[in-house]
Amino acid sequence: MKLHEPSTIRDIKDRYDFRLSKSLGQNFITDRNVITRIVDGADISPEDLVIEIGPGIGVLTAAAAERAARVVAVEIDRKLIPILEETLIGYRNIRVINQDIMKTDINEIIEEERHAETFRGDVKIIGNLPYYITTPIIMGILEKGVKAESITIMMQKEVADRIKASPGGKVYGALSVAVQYYCTVEDIASVPRDVFIPQPKVDSAVLRLRLRQESPVELTDKAVFFSCIKHGFGQRRKTLHNSLTGVGGLSKEQVGRVLEEAGIDPGRRAETLDMEEFAAIANGVAACCGR
Ligand code: SAM
Repeated sequence: MKLHEPSTIRDIKDRYDFRLSKSLGQNFITDRNVITRIVDGADISPEDLVIEIGPGIGVLTAAAAERAARVVAVEIDRKLIPILEETLIGYRNIRVINQDIMKTDINEIIEEERHAETFRGDVKIIGNLPYYITTPIIMGILEKGVKAESITIMMQKEVADRIKASPGGKVYGALSVAVQYYCTVEDIASVPRDVFIPQPKVDSAVLRLRLRQESPVELTDKAVFFSCIKHGFGQRRKTLHNSLTGVGGLSKEQVGRVLEEAGIDPGRRAETLDMEEFAAIANGVAACCGR
């Protein structure tokens, strides 16, 4: 069964009386090349465990199962479970979990699979993410310290642009600094909107995020670093002297001193700071508030 073909998707919809849910971000891939780009980009080896977010009818799941030792796919829509049982019937190395990925403990799945000795290699996360929760899914994985080697995911192009942005650009923001703190970011593919059923209103892009083994900057307190990013970009049109006032409970005068000691002009805005500069400010704030 060629799962990416529109005729297959139509046939499944008819036979199971399945309606694609807009609210669950169900836009299914219909292009074999895109599937290949994602699984190639994920660099899956025969020893690896792949965790897929949102398998849909199983196009990526099947392609990943051809290359990996094991695939665990987490799908929220229970109506897709009997469909996946049919479409993935020939594969013995796939486990489907009917669950919300936001409520799923991915490290627990990894531990279970390791305990059952289903894989010996790395853990790679893949997915064509539902647009409505792309950012919470990515940040959830990163903040919870999921023990994966990489995350290769398709998302709305605008979100990919924000994730990979550099200082100075219009789309550079808290998401760019946060993701780049945890990962290196690589472009894998640009994907036009017309390769999905139904067609979304926006184009997509595939990124590979490789989790860093070590922090790219030295921090005395990670929470203060993220708080500085939040404050700075929370009021991105304000100067740092104003937007950072209140961070760590600091007064405007104290923020001025922190910026001066970090060698950063208080008239600059958050969107001009690179990660090293955010780290210098955060370490100054942490020292000033006794952390
Ligand atoms: N992987 C399939 C493909 O590429 O054709 C489907 C991708 S579709 C963009 C997103 C999938 O994620 C849908 O199957 C949807 O039901 C599922 N999904 C949406 N929200 C989810 C959540 N919170 N947890 C797990 N799966 C979710």
